[in-house]
Order: sequence, then C-alpha cells, then structure tokens
Amino acid sequence: MNESFDVVIAGGAAMGSSVAYHLLADPGFRGKVLVIEKDPTYQRSASALSAASIRQQFSSPVNIRISLYGIRFLREIGERLAVDGERPDIGLKEGGYLYLATGAGAAVLKENQELQVREGADIRFFSHRSLADRFPWLRTDDLACGTWGRSGEGWFDGWGLLQAFRRKARALGAEYRAGEVVDVERQGSRIVAVRLADGERIACGALVNCAGAGGRALAAKAGVVIPVVAKRRYVFSFACREPIENCPLVIDPTGVWFRPEGEGFIGSASPGPGDEDPDWRDEDPTTQEVDLTFFEERVWPVLAHRVPAFEAIRPGRAWAGPYDMCLLDHNAIVGPAGEVTNFYLCNGFSGHGLQQSPAIGRGVAELIVHGAYRTLDLTDLGYERVVANRPLLERNVI
Ligand SMILES: Cc1cc2nc3c(=O)[nH]c(=O)nc-3n(C[C@H](O)[C@H](O)[C@H](O)COP(=O)(O)OP(=O)(O)OC[C@H]3O[C@@H](n4cnc5c(N)ncnc54)[C@H](O)[C@@H]3O)c2cc1C
Repeated sequence: MNESFDVVIAGGAAMGSSVAYHLLADPGFRGKVLVIEKDPTYQRSASALSAASIRQQFSSPVNIRISLYGIRFLREIGERLAVDGERPDIGLKEGGYLYLATGAGAAVLKENQELQVREGADIRFFSHRSLADRFPWLRTDDLACGTWGRSGEGWFDGWGLLQAFRRKARALGAEYRAGEVVDVERQGSRIVAVRLADGERIACGALVNCAGAGGRALAAKAGVVIPVVAKRRYVFSFACREPIENCPLVIDPTGVWFRPEGEGFIGSASPGPGDEDPDWRDEDPTTQEVDLTFFEERVWPVLAHRVPAFEAIRPGRAWAGPYDMCLLDHNAIVGPAGEVTNFYLCNGFSGHGLQQSPAIGRGVAELIVHGAYRTLDLTDLGYERVVANRPLLERNVI
C-alpha cells in the first residue's frame, strides 16, 4: 500500500527541519509531515559545514527583514525549541560584522548602512579615524570607512541550530526517514507523489524542495528549472599568538573575511576572477578536498595585510562545503514553483541560508497552511522573478 503525507519535505537539514517545525507549530495546521533525508549524518550538508554567522548588512530590504527575524529567533531559541524542558543552546555571540571599504566602495557602504538603519538594524558607520580608534589592531591606512553591527549580528553553532530544529520538529510529530527522493510524479499542475531510491512511492499533498546542493536536480524532476549551481567553498581555521580584542566578523574590501572561533579564528574568501571555482558534487568525495594553496595565495596575504598580528599565524583544520548559488542574483528562490502550485522551492541561498532558515521556514509554512505570507512578505524572493529574468540585486555577497 502506498503511504500518504500532507507535506513531504525533501532534505532534512536546517531549512527542511525549520519548515517542518514551523508547519507543526502553526495552530492552523492539522496534517502529517514527512521529512526525507538522504544522509542523516548530514556530513555533506551545508548546514553542518557553514561558518554559521548572521548579519543584518544586506542591501535589499527583504534580506534585512529576514535577518531581523532571524536574530530574534536565535536569541529566543531556548524557549522556542525546548523539548521536555531541555533548552537548546547555540552559543550565539553578537560580535557584529565589520564591513570595510576603500574610497571606491565608501558611497555604497554608506548607502547600504542608511537602508539597514531605516529597516531597524543596529548598524554603525565608522569614518576612517573612528575605525582606527575602535579597532587598534586593524590596518586602516588604505581604508575610507567601515560599518559595524553593534547588535543583531554575530555567530553561533550551526550544527546546534540544525539539531534543535530537527529535535523540535520530531517532538511535534514530524516523521524523519532516511532515503533519497529520486523522482517526482506530476499530474498537470500538481505533484502527487515522490519516489525514493529504494523504489518506494509516497503520495503527498505538497512537496517542499529543501535539498540544498541537490535542489536543482530535484526541481528538474518536476519539470521546474532553477538557476542554481552547487559551488565548493572553503573555511580555514588558524591561531594567532597575539590577542585581537573585540574582534568582529571582518569583511575586507577584497572579499576575504575572518572571525573569532573558540580560542582562534576562521576565515576564507569566495573565488575571484582568475581563481578556480569548482562545482560541488555530493556523490564525489574529491569535491570535499580543500585546496590549501587557496589559503596561502588568496586568503593569508590579505589577512596579514589587514591585521599585522596575522603575519605569524598557525594554520589549523580546513574544510569544504557546498554553496547553492543562485546564478540570477545570489538570492534565495522561495515559494511555489510557478505553475506547479503545490511544489515549494527553498533553494539558492548563495551562502546565507543558515541565518535565513527561521524566517524562510516560517514563510513557507504560512504559504502551505494559509495560502499566503502572514508575518513577513517574502514575495521578492519568489520564482516569478526567475521566470521574468528580473534579478533582485544584492550588493553584499560574501
Ligand atoms: C563554507 C560555507 C559557509 C557558509 N557560511 C554561512 C554563514 O556564515 N551564514 C549563513 O547563514 N549561511 C552560511 N552558509 C550557507 C548555509 O550553510 C546554507 O545556505 C544552509 O545551510 C542551507 O540549508 P539547507 O537545509 O537548504 O541545505 P543543506 O544544509 O545543504 O541540506 C540539504 C539536505 O538535503 C539532503 N538532500 C539532497 N538531495 C536530496 C534528495 N534528493 N533526497 C533527500 N535528501 C536530499 C542533503 O543530504 C542535505 O542534508 C555557508 C555555507 C558554506 C558551504
């Protein structure tokens, strides 16, 4: 006999588990939820491999609003996701992001900061002079200004967030199953069932695509094209002998970033012109290899320039993970997949999906239960813009 669920979620990492939790926490929802995850160890999921940081410093209002909700959620996670009185602790540290600009980027940085403040984010502008006073360990002679999140930005335990969502979703009744969705049965404008690798067929009232790096392939099975490619990104850890007081997550004008992690630091960069930009393939273990020359040639020289104390660092562990890049505009694609009205996309997070998982999970749950966004309008991230080839420009991409 075929099994049947009201909502099937393909991919059970942070996004899939957030959707499951928000569905079951909604008093208007009475259905059954199945989360299908092909790798319950989450070894290759972005949620387990990310830098787990949250910022308000975006340049589009919808992304700022998503992060404002995100930080409130993370601050309250102990109450919201407690199970049997056990409160999850994700070690949120609100150390802020520090975006740095040379003369060339100063006007845009200021414009973005004014927008962020108008939206309610706590972002301060630092002139060249005040930057040097506030962060004495930073080399500032080639900088014009910076912007820093006094509150609402920082980092946390990403694995802890994924597990907290998952645990709470299960406690509320979500069923999790190990398996890979390999096919989708579509009748006209509706998905009626999914097929798993072991041949099992599961009927569904709605399907949510939370498959991360596998999202494009899954969408294609339903006849939906999304401009998302999985790209390999690295994170490098290192230690420094000298203390760096009150270090935020620093974004250098070159795109190199670093932040404290435990006793040391982590940092990296996105590939620039001339760098190799390899694809990520879950099934190919070699894509998880780290190119250490990227650190030596692209990352460390910038670190050592920006923070003189980083001239003498001790490199530590490094890892690779998948960015599901939206080629249209580096923004997520969220909501119904055009004419396939009961197929919901949660894809293309382009490196900022962990911080967006609370708001996106809530929004998608609202769409499924109420047929419309209720608390935060995420229409700007809809699939319609993809069909119309109308990018939502986001200038702050890391
Ligand atoms: C190096 C790195 C640094 C990052 N830093 C940050 C950061 O600082 N802040 C931030 O907000 N975000 C960051 N991100 C991005 C963030 O991690 C992701 O956007 C987010 O975790 C996406 O969550 P997800 O659940 O959509 O995808 P994933 O975590 O990738 O999960 C997708 C899941 O789907 C499963 N799956 C795939 N296909 C199928 C299928 N067909 N059937 C069943 N299951 C399937 C996979 O096994 C996987 O577990 C970073 C990412 C990387 C790689």
